[in-house]
Amino acid sequence: MRQTENILDRIAKQGMVLGDGGYLLELERRGWVDSGSGREKVGTGKGSGQFTPEVAIEHPDALRELHREFLNAGSQVLQALTFFGTREKLNRAGYGEQTEAINSAAVRIAREIARDSALVAGSVSRTQLFEREGPSAAGHVRSLITEQIRLLAEAEVDFLILETFFHLEEMLIAIECARVSGLPMVATMTFRPKVSECSDGHSPGNCARAMVDAGAGAVGAMCEQEPERMLAIIREMRQAVSVPIAAQPAAFRTSDATPCFTKLPQFPDEMEAIQLPRSSFERFAAQAKAEGIQFLGGCCGCNAAYIHAFSRGLAAPTGSQAW
Ligand SMILES: [Zn+2]
Repeated sequence: MRQTENILDRIAKQGMVLGDGGYLLELERRGWVDSGSGREKVGTGKGSGQFTPEVAIEHPDALRELHREFLNAGSQVLQALTFFGTREKLNRAGYGEQTEAINSAAVRIAREIARDSALVAGSVSRTQLFEREGPSAAGHVRSLITEQIRLLAEAEVDFLILETFFHLEEMLIAIECARVSGLPMVATMTFRPKVSECSDGHSPGNCARAMVDAGAGAVGAMCEQEPERMLAIIREMRQAVSVPIAAQPAAFRTSDATPCFTKLPQFPDEMEAIQLPRSSFERFAAQAKAEGIQFLGGCCGCNAAYIHAFSRGLAAPTGSQAW
């Protein structure tokens, strides 16, 4: 077993850990990932595999390069591209038989770039089965996530980021599977279509409490909203629990009527039209530091330029910038 620093110890030591950004949308923009928009509607959770991580075995150099860019921009954590890497989702993309190969290649590539300069996180995302089948999918979800976490542990990730869960019930299953693995975890919910509650009706504060009670060492929010809109979610979590809080906003502008980018008509082919300027990430970093957020990264739409902006914001004197 590899000797590694626990992410929670790193957060305690540094006060703030800077993560990386979003992989799949950036690799789609660069031409290496197929969004699926040419064959079906995207964003329903019901399609054939969309935004799946087979780029790790199909175009490893493209993935390597993006990791390198994030590391160069100051990321202290690299997320292995294992998002949507559970077997059922990969099956829908035609890559189910490569589930082991994709997960292990993704971790190997992230480690190759991170070396001793960054921790490697295994990404574990929602399966989409709760959205499609409801709570009756729980048993199937548990076996899929158990398998993926086993693959990530065998590939020797340093910790897990549980991410983009819309249903708290599915998140709690993932936390339980992660606990069994013994790996440290950062658990982040995603709020869609509302920011006031997750898909099964729990407020951000109640989600945070439930995730901590289930065993998550750090909790937070990830994806769908831009920094300014995510701040309200994060503040509510901050007030609810005392563990470190993580924020990984998207770099797309949403609206009060539709506060989640994957439900906007621009997703997935017109994202340039709602791309946020980097200055909003710079401002958010300063704000996040002032508010006691301790793990800061980006999600969809956030490439290395946005991580550079985070670094600038974190370097600014506390309280120098506000919304
Ligand atoms: Zn995202």
